[in-house]
Parts: sequence; structure tokens; C-alpha cells
Amino acid sequence: MKAKPVLLALSLLSGLLPSFAQDATNAVTLFSNVRIFDGKSDTLSAPSHVLVRGNVIEKISTSPIPTDRRADTRLIDCGGRTLMPGLIDAHWHSMFAATPLKELMTADAGYLNLLAAQEAEKTLMRGFTTVRDVGGPVFGLKRAIDERVVVGPRIYPSGAIITITGGHGDFRQPYELPRTLGAPTTRIEQIGAAMIADSPDEVRVRVREQLMLGATQIKLTASGGVASPHSPLDAATFTESELRAAVEAADNWGTYVTAHAYTPKTIRRSIEAGVKCIEHGHLMDDSTARLIAEKGVWLSTQPFLAEDLESSPFPPGSEQRAKQMEMVKGTDTVYALAKKYKLKTAFGTDIIFDARETPRQGALLASLTRWVTPAEALKMATSANGELLALSGPRNPYPGKLGAVEQGALADLVLVDGDPIADIKLIADPAKNFLVIMKDGKIYKNTLKPSERQDESLQPTGSPTGKPREQ
Ligand SMILES: [Zn+2]
Repeated sequence: MKAKPVLLALSLLSGLLPSFAQDATNAVTLFSNVRIFDGKSDTLSAPSHVLVRGNVIEKISTSPIPTDRRADTRLIDCGGRTLMPGLIDAHWHSMFAATPLKELMTADAGYLNLLAAQEAEKTLMRGFTTVRDVGGPVFGLKRAIDERVVVGPRIYPSGAIITITGGHGDFRQPYELPRTLGAPTTRIEQIGAAMIADSPDEVRVRVREQLMLGATQIKLTASGGVASPHSPLDAATFTESELRAAVEAADNWGTYVTAHAYTPKTIRRSIEAGVKCIEHGHLMDDSTARLIAEKGVWLSTQPFLAEDLESSPFPPGSEQRAKQMEMVKGTDTVYALAKKYKLKTAFGTDIIFDARETPRQGALLASLTRWVTPAEALKMATSANGELLALSGPRNPYPGKLGAVEQGALADLVLVDGDPIADIKLIADPAKNFLVIMKDGKIYKNTLKPSERQDESLQPTGSPTGKPREQ
């Protein structure tokens, strides 16, 4: 402990340095005495040490890793706790998650963005360091997070959901019909939440618009949906040629289409058209699951649970509520078929319009243990989701490996107070159990005791509310 006065002096000095000094791209963080869930294994590693330099995991070793003890070096004694990859939600709507539909349909866009920014910070504080945003006007929020104007996860944006007249995502009222061809866009289109397209040519325009805005993948709704007022669940929406037009436009841009589809008919049609990922799939049957497996298509599905009906934003007796109940029945089916056919399965939550539900993002991941082991659930939300994100190819805004604790991967890390494989419920209470949250090499939360934060004996690193220390 001889070095302590030196460290103290250095940390005092570092507090006085201008922020850009601490922002040096090769700043070092050393997590020592940690057991690792690497995103792929069924068990934790032996006690190890993990060195992060800049935004990359540079070295992992069971022997102590020496550091040069620069002023901006952070030494974190993890006391045998678990280091795991930052979690990924593969079906998230940053702009819709915590905002009631009524506000989306009526409120000022600036207000909606501020609400979404607040929820983005909470998302990161739940340990979700990346989200695949499958619909919503999220490009501004993504930019603000990347520029560190506000705090939030990495976002893989789809931009507007592309749908048909009356399809899932068409939230127009009957009085708005008929639409005159060439008429101004409607509210939901103006804010970029959904675009209505009724021919292959219109689909092409709308897809290309999202790609121009920076979409990393394209989201189409191939079947009806729960939240939409007009689309029955059994409905097939886009024709195969419309789906094909979207796939072609996305493919020309180096990326892929993911299709919201519940039923065998719409899943099959999507796959025929070249769609690479199916969202939901809750009403699929055995032969459709076999087709998904044969074609190597991704299944991005969610645990829609019976207990969530109690807090449903859709009132009892409403059409949406009835559709939601049908989805809940399909949850057992979809996870059983995913297991039977070893489908490439991504984890997502699809929480929408409900600020009471978003705190349950981690609890929904933990709920997967009704169908899979804790390690399998954690793998879905880390390595599997990371693999799905990589389908964006050259449109990937964050080149590098996500969802893994391994040398060379991007440094998105969560330090858990315990072993989440032995006790999956730890991830349901991130405020208590996630002690350190790092995204892109930067620490956004550190609630370890000062004695464990050797470099930070005077000032807390960040805060539970998420301001990174570098700011
Ligand atoms: Zn959704």
C-alpha cells in the first residue's frame, strides 16, 4: 500500500485536469480479481484480470496484469464478483417504450425526444448497453447519445416502421381516410414513427429514405399486430413482391430486412422474399420453425407473459387486449420450437407505451429461465444478440464485437454483485446488483466502496443516475 499517497496525489491532480485529458482515447481501466461470464460459456471463468484500453478489451489473464499507473488509469478491485458483457435488447423502441400512445399521437416532437432521452439513460443504467431499435424516430436520440450530449445505450436504428394501409403501425383514425394520392403525410409519418407503403415502388422509396437517414436495418410489418387499432393478428399485410422490393433495397445498401410476423403464412412469405430475421413468431407452427432453421433465419422473439396482462396498457375487453392474450398463449410455443429446432434466437422485450414496464427489462430476461437455462438466457442477450447486430455489415455504426468479454471486443461491461448463472434474478434488480456499468470503455456507474476503487478514493466515479465521470 506504499503507492497509496502517490495514487491519492494523482487522483487529486486528475480532478484538476481538463476533461479532454481524461478523455484520452487510450485511458486504461483494470478490473482485477473477477470471474468472467464471456457471453458464450455455461460457466464462469477462474479468477481473472481484465484490462480495458480506450474502448477495447485489450487483455484478459489469470495472472495479474501490470499497468503503467498513469493518472487516468482506473484500478477496480472486483473482489471475486462477476464481469459480464453489457446486455443487448434486440427488440426495443427507444421512442415508444415509456411514452403513452396518446402522447406520441399528439405531443410536441421536442418533448417526445426529451422523454425518450430520459428513458435511454435508465436503459443504460439497467445494464443494457446496446439496443436494436426496431421502429421509431430515433436518429436524433442516437446522435445525441453517440456525441455524449445525453446518456444512453448504443442504438442500431431501423427508423420508421414500414407498413401498409391498415397494417401494424398505421395508427390513423377512420376520419383520415380515404388518403388522397399525393396528399401530405399523416402525423405518424411526419414524426417518422411509421411510413405507409402500398406498392413495391412505395416500399422502395420508404426503405431508401430510412437508409439515407442512417438505418442499420429495415423493419417491415408482414402481419397484423397487437397495439394497432386496425390490423387483425391473422392478417397478412405486404405482398411477396413488396417484401422483395424492401429486401432488394436494403441488400443494395449492404444490410437486411427484419419482418414483424406472427403467423406461419407471413413468416413463410417473409423468408421467401429474403428477409433475414423474424420478429415475434408467437403463432408459428412446427413446419414453419423447421423452415426458419433450414434457411438459417434469425428469430427475434420476446417473453410475453401472463402476469404482464395485469399491467397491460390495453384495457380489458379491448380488441388489443384480446390480441395480447393470444400472444401470451404463443410464448410457450415459440420458445419450445426455438429449442426443438435450435433456432438462432435473439432476446428482446418490445416494451411499448408503458413507463411502468420498462424497469422490468432485466426481469423479462430472467423470465426466460422458464424455457432455457440461466446461461442460455444470458447468452441470448449477449453473444447471440451481438451476432444478430453484426448482420448490419457495412452499416454497423459501432464496428467491433459486442456481447462478449474477450480480447479485442468492445468494452461494454457490467460488474455483477454475485453470480448471475447461479442466481439469474440478480439481473432483475440492476440498481442493486449491477455495481459497475461501462459502455465503450467509459464508466457510467460505479457504486463500489471507495476501498475497492483504488483510484477514486476522493470522488465517486459517475453516479447511479448515470453521468459519466468524463463529463
Ligand atoms: Zn415492436
